Amino acid sequence: MENVDNLEISKFEALASRWWDPESEFKPLHEINPLRVNYISQKINLAEKQVLDIGCGGGILAEAMAHHGAKVTAIDKAEASLSVAKLHLLESKLDISYVDSTAEEFAADKPEQFDVVTCLEMLEHVPDPASVVAACQRMVKPGGQVFFSTINRNPKSYLFAIIGAEYILNLLPRGTHDYAKLIKPAELAAWARESDLELQDQIGMGYNLLTKRYFLQQNLDVNYLACYQKPTA
Ligand code: SAH
Repeated sequence: MENVDNLEISKFEALASRWWDPESEFKPLHEINPLRVNYISQKINLAEKQVLDIGCGGGILAEAMAHHGAKVTAIDKAEASLSVAKLHLLESKLDISYVDSTAEEFAADKPEQFDVVTCLEMLEHVPDPASVVAACQRMVKPGGQVFFSTINRNPKSYLFAIIGAEYILNLLPRGTHDYAKLIKPAELAAWARESDLELQDQIGMGYNLLTKRYFLQQNLDVNYLACYQKPTA
């Protein structure tokens, strides 16, 4: 059984043509992109690194990392999103390899091939996130970094990330996130530990209602990013 929720994939397929429209349903991803790419590139110099981006969508993060000099391979299970990602390369003139694959399939013949693996805003859309974490661990080289981002699960995140973002501010389409599938930092950390990944750092992301800007913060209550490392031998 593939670790794919087809209903989730069809939601992303339906929006695929709008991946690169900064005013679309993907506006929040465009707005947080510089924050997360800065976070990643402060942890590791991306220049010339072999990077795998899992659940790449239209390639917003993949392209930003390629702009930092990374050699990016990016995978997703939404064909329409991959088509948009490939088309966008004509405009950006970047060289990124896009592949239709799950993390688990891709890991089968790519043990320890990547310096960095990124899997942002994706774990909360799959049936078995722990299995994706394990696949990331298999693909990263010893000493390499794995970055995850997702949404915490608690009453505050329900209020901010679902009620606020989907029903009041209309930042995201209703039904984008299922509360039960949100992930506590401790749950992610437990899956990572079981897969032999060590937590290096975590940071929260906040949204200022007045300035309408996102910012990084210590508080992990709602959106957060985490950096893990595979131990060296
Ligand atoms: N990582 C990107 C996009 C996040 S949206 C970013 O942060 O900008 C979540 C993406 O995960 C969608 O593109 C969706 O198609 C993809 N996805 C969901 N389940 C998947 C699976 N099992 N395997 C690969 N990609 C998946």
